[in-house]
Amino acid sequence: MKISVIGSGYVGLVTAACFAELGNKVTCIDISKQKIQSLKQSKIPFYEPGLENLVEKNLKCKNLSFTSKYADAIEDKIYFICVGTPQRKSGSVNLDYLFAAIDSLLKEFQQGIDQDSKRHIFIKSTIPPGTIRKIEKKVLLRKLNFSVSISSNPEFLKEGSAVNDFMKPDRVVIGSDSNTAKKICKELYKPIIWKSNRFIETTPESSEIIKYASNAFLATKISFINEIAKLTDFYGGDINEIRSGMGSDVRINPNFLYAGIGFGGSCFPKDLTGLIHSFKKAKINPELIKATVNVNNEQKEYFLRKIYKLYSPKELSKKTITIWGIAFKSNTDDIRESVGIKIVKALSPKVAKINIYDAIAIKNAKNELSNLSNISFNKTLASSVKNSHFLVITTDSKEFWSFDHDLLTTLQDNRIFDGRNMLDIDAMSALEIEYFGIGRG
Ligand code: NAD
Repeated sequence: MKISVIGSGYVGLVTAACFAELGNKVTCIDISKQKIQSLKQSKIPFYEPGLENLVEKNLKCKNLSFTSKYADAIEDKIYFICVGTPQRKSGSVNLDYLFAAIDSLLKEFQQGIDQDSKRHIFIKSTIPPGTIRKIEKKVLLRKLNFSVSISSNPEFLKEGSAVNDFMKPDRVVIGSDSNTAKKICKELYKPIIWKSNRFIETTPESSEIIKYASNAFLATKISFINEIAKLTDFYGGDINEIRSGMGSDVRINPNFLYAGIGFGGSCFPKDLTGLIHSFKKAKINPELIKATVNVNNEQKEYFLRKIYKLYSPKELSKKTITIWGIAFKSNTDDIRESVGIKIVKALSPKVAKINIYDAIAIKNAKNELSNLSNISFNKTLASSVKNSHFLVITTDSKEFWSFDHDLLTTLQDNRIFDGRNMLDIDAMSALEIEYFGIGRG
């Protein structure tokens, strides 16, 4: 099929490259001319495993092309919109990019020569309930000579494993009133969904809510285990044992039950705030979801208090500390709403110096932290702990599971604050390192 993907960010580029890999002819549109220029040369503006190869391969075989002109995609007739839907200060969802993309498409439709065939727009961006209906009204106002279907097709990929998630989805959800749109969507996803057959057809409203509710549920699991972890910090026990014990129950399952410094990233924080806003508009008080957010906001403070309990402000002001991991999670360079970034910003005015190590996200972190004068970035784990007093781990990067533990012996205070429970307590005590995890007694 010939399709257009609008937006070439984490979701758009993965969608475009994967649909191209599945044999479709895909035009990917972005308003950022700079991004399009580099994408035309197979240069990916962010880190996502496996994506660069896919883009390069499909550019070469001409299944994939990039443009900043909507007019270039006007013949495609099937459009996937993947632009950002960030949070406004008020907590509401900023749909300006989405509506701008829709307006650009509609403008092109009106100017197009071929006015007689139907167009289908699928919204992959995460949108609050009621958005599809709003877009439908916008389309009606244009009084077009042909019909345009608007459907919700939320994306569930995870940064760091986005290509794999797209190609092996747990489910594909399509929320639409149009049978033709559902048929097109089923056809497009058939090569990756035929085995599991988890193609879920819903109303637009259900589809919009499925995405928000899924993220809110996962976030609630994280806040739940973080709250329980406080109990093990007080009474003893180990939250990892509790996770295994609880998670063995298939009704609970152990995924997303890792205690830590709380969730960040470009999705959970904004989607929970957006969801709360939708509840507010409906005059319903979302007590559970608000509690999830509150527990999460408190979790970073809870972790920082572990440091403040051991060091007076005066002592802390003389310390050089090391932070491992600055992205919001492993295997990505995305630092949006990263708890690691927030921890650096909180500690920077209180300590003498911070050495930061992250294998992937340093470029983004440098931009974000450019106004902090006591920060330095390190290329290796070893150089980051040299002359440092203590170590703080804020990202769950795989390399922190297994590295040469001897390099930790250079820590002058023999202390580690592990915000992701990565390190082995026995190994730390063998090195005579005082270890502070989350909920590990
Ligand atoms: P992003 O910020 O990485 O990318 C958005 C892209 O859209 C940018 O390249 C921007 O230049 C482009 N854009 C903005 N306005 C445009 C317009 N009018 N026309 C063409 N291009 C335009 O965003 P993202 O992380 O890919 O997220 C996109 C959507 O998908 C959001 O709604 C997000 O909540 C949702 N989502 C994200 C993830 C994720 O892990 N990042 C997962 C699932 C869903």
